[in-house]
Amino acid sequence: MADKSYLEKIFAEWNASHFQGMLHPPELRWNARLSSSAGRFYPKRASRWSLWPKTPVIEIATYLLKEDDSEKWIRDTLGHEMIHQWLWQLGRPYGHTAEFRKKMKELGVSRYNLVPRRRAVKYQYHCPSCGLAYPSRKRIVMKACGRCCRAHAGGKYDSRFKLILDNKLPSLEALGGSVGGGPASRDG
Ligand SMILES: [Zn+2]
Ligand SMILES: [Zn+2]
Repeated sequence: MADKSYLEKIFAEWNASHFQGMLHPPELRWNARLSSSAGRFYPKRASRWSLWPKTPVIEIATYLLKEDDSEKWIRDTLGHEMIHQWLWQLGRPYGHTAEFRKKMKELGVSRYNLVPRRRAVKYQYHCPSCGLAYPSRKRIVMKACGRCCRAHAGGKYDSRFKLILDNKLPSLEALGGSVGGGPASRDG
């Protein structure tokens, strides 16, 4: 599912509906390592030798694909990043400015990139074989590491790779996280 055309389609839709089609197509990328925020925008600076800036980049965290309502989150995140790009293209300050927030209201996207996984996760599991971490909102009863089962058990459930509970994580609300906003990501 993490293919580029999916992002391109959503980009084209937002571009037409809220940016008069003026945004130049950026380099759209899925980023599997991105976890501090759901998305990221960065303009590519013109190198000293180039006459014109190269394409800016928007990255979307692949973990959004695993969320319930993943399409909603991907749309939301991409829309948010596109506002950064829009302001940048206009030569405006492109952080979370008043102008930025006004545009967010128009699009109906969230204040910041919510990181629903971080907000909702309560349980942390790991695979006893490869060590891969599996954060989860719910208690997992019978689940094995997908990666190891695919690699060593022909894709079938194998108890050797049954996930192990590390700890129950305190909710962010309990830690004083703001209600509704969740942990806000800091991105470009
Ligand atoms: Zn594993
Ligand atoms: Zn942002």
